[in-house]
Amino acid sequence: MPINPAAPYDDQNVFAKILRGEIPSQEVYQDEFAYAFHDVNPQAPVHILVIPRGSYVSWDDFSAQASAEEIAGFVRAVGHVAREQGLVVRGYRMMANIGRNGGQEVAHLHVHLFGGRPLGPMIGE
Ligand code: 5GP
Repeated sequence: MPINPAAPYDDQNVFAKILRGEIPSQEVYQDEFAYAFHDVNPQAPVHILVIPRGSYVSWDDFSAQASAEEIAGFVRAVGHVAREQGLVVRGYRMMANIGRNGGQEVAHLHVHLFGGRPLGPMIGE
């Protein structure tokens, strides 16, 4: 069920629970600004989610409200994870779904990193 991007941040969303350690996740990387973990339902041989530690509903919320330090830290973390996971040489795709048309299902900003095979056309269907 896609989220309502205009709704206030709900700290009971599944990624907030992962950040608090209330539900398990397969950690890939963490630092002061970001946490990265494997997607539970991978759509490619490598499918990693990178989320900011701050409480942001979506990329829209984050890009408007986050501090310059948080934005820089998060963007650096996404790039670091891709490099550390060996995705750069063969290439990879990063994606953030926003709101209903984007198909966003979890109301905490997350960037998907896909890799490990040619990823096909940019948008399906
Ligand atoms: P969205 O459609 O919101 O961009 O993507 C949400 C992603 O979160 C999906 O790829 C889904 O498989 C993943 N996901 C949902 N719940 C969990 C969970 O509890 N753990 C992990 N690791 N991934 C999850």
